[in-house]
Amino acid sequence: MTPTVTLTLADILEARRRIAGVADGTPMVPSPHLSGLAGQPFWLKLENMQPIGAFKLRGALNAVSRLPEGTAGVTCCSTGNHGRGVAHAARARGLRAVICMSRLVPQTKIDGIRALGAEVRIIGDSQDAAEAESRRLAAEEGLVEISPFDDPAVIAGQGTIGLEMLEAVPDLSTILVPLSGGGLAAGIALAAKAINPRIRVIGITMDRGAAMHASLRAGHPVEVTEVPSLADSLGGGIGQDNALSFPMCRELLDDTVLVTEEEIYGAMQRLYYEDRIVAEGACVVGLAALAAGRLPPLDGPVATVITGRNVDMGMFTKVVTGQDVVLGDMVIAGVPYGA
Ligand SMILES: *Cc1c(COP(=O)(O)O)cnc(C)c1O
Repeated sequence: MTPTVTLTLADILEARRRIAGVADGTPMVPSPHLSGLAGQPFWLKLENMQPIGAFKLRGALNAVSRLPEGTAGVTCCSTGNHGRGVAHAARARGLRAVICMSRLVPQTKIDGIRALGAEVRIIGDSQDAAEAESRRLAAEEGLVEISPFDDPAVIAGQGTIGLEMLEAVPDLSTILVPLSGGGLAAGIALAAKAINPRIRVIGITMDRGAAMHASLRAGHPVEVTEVPSLADSLGGGIGQDNALSFPMCRELLDDTVLVTEEEIYGAMQRLYYEDRIVAEGACVVGLAALAAGRLPPLDGPVATVITGRNVDMGMFTKVVTGQDVVLGDMVIAGVPYGA
């Protein structure tokens, strides 16, 4: 399968011009603790510092900025952060935004979207149900649907992160990217490999409901059952009709790695106590894979993207104080950090 749209570095450079001034560059900071653990310089790209608390502003802004005058409005499905990005971008253009999400989305993310003036629809127990609703709205109300990951403008916007990472640390050898629908990984890998074809890009996700991982293994998009996870932003399928993020991930990712909920729990503690960062479970899958020894041998500077900070603080507090966390029918037994 070849992608019907072919994105290039030029699209990412154009995205950078379009989003400048709103989703500006974020810091890339070294982590002494993680460098010690990795035996290589380890860098954190702090997308948790974006105005909406997550990188998704980049892709959403790029997509919304390209819509023609007279657009009736926009809609999307989301695990929370894409919706917030779309809401922010739509408000800036005075457009109506309707964000469709499942009941798995934490309340803090819903509140953040409403605060930006968007309409919120909570539909069903999966990202698939939310997607069906945003398709219906697009068809019936003439709204433009913006996919969270399978959209060239969204992928190009996320790709601007890859540019900044290599500008900050030109000798990066491995990038660990939290992986869900693959827009982030596809964009970063496209940018990074255009600059340095030898760089290795590894997608990392939770082992329960890892849609892109399963699809890459199968060679075509496969459906997975969506279950509650500490990495709620990584939930959902990749779409049976995936046109771009799947073929791009297949071509550009060197590997995919899975981590358990217990490993994510420990990595949230690690990032908090060692680097003093409050982050979502989705952000720490790279650290989790490192700490659990699941990464291939590292041969030079490594970086991961701290993708967002929009974590439910009740749950976050439980994790960092070592208490039990209930995820649907699964209980993660509490462990204090370092125990
Ligand atoms: C969306 C999201 C991801 C994954 O991005 P994809 O493009 O869907 O792979 C990772 N982390 C956070 C916080 C997100 O919101």
